[in-house]
Formats: sequence, C-alpha cells, structure tokens
Amino acid sequence: MRLTCPFCHAKALIQSRNNMTDDHRVVELYCRCTRQECAATFVYSLAYRHVLNPPVHSIQDLARNLIENLTPKRTV
Ligand SMILES: [Zn+2]
Repeated sequence: MRLTCPFCHAKALIQSRNNMTDDHRVVELYCRCTRQECAATFVYSLAYRHVLNPPVHSIQDLARNLIENLTPKRTV
C-alpha cells in the first residue's frame, strides 16, 4: 500500500497502527512524511469494505458441505 503525505504529496511511511475494532477491519495508521523538508506526521484511517473474491478455503468448505448433504438419486 502506498500512502502519500496529505500536505506535500511525498511518499509516507506507516510507523505504527492501532486496531479500532476487535476483528481488525478498521485501523488507524500513524504515518510520517519521508520528505525531510516536510516531516509531517499524521493519521490515516483504513477500513475493510467488502469482499471481491472470498477466501479459497471458504469455497472449498461450501462445496464439501454441499456434497456431503447430497442425497443419492434413486432410479426405478
Ligand atoms: Zn509531506
């Protein structure tokens, strides 16, 4: 993740983070501007929003659960 200084737009470094929720989906990022002439320090907020592709293991678990609960097809 690339962060920039909100004052001079130079590259910023994350120095520490503070989890705002128990599930770590909202964090505060304590940052420092890398440009010596600026040297600003500031806090960004970072929040999880939504999934694009679920974790592979959750898809495998879903498939396994569906297969295990199939009933055999009976032919007459
Ligand atoms: Zn700066």
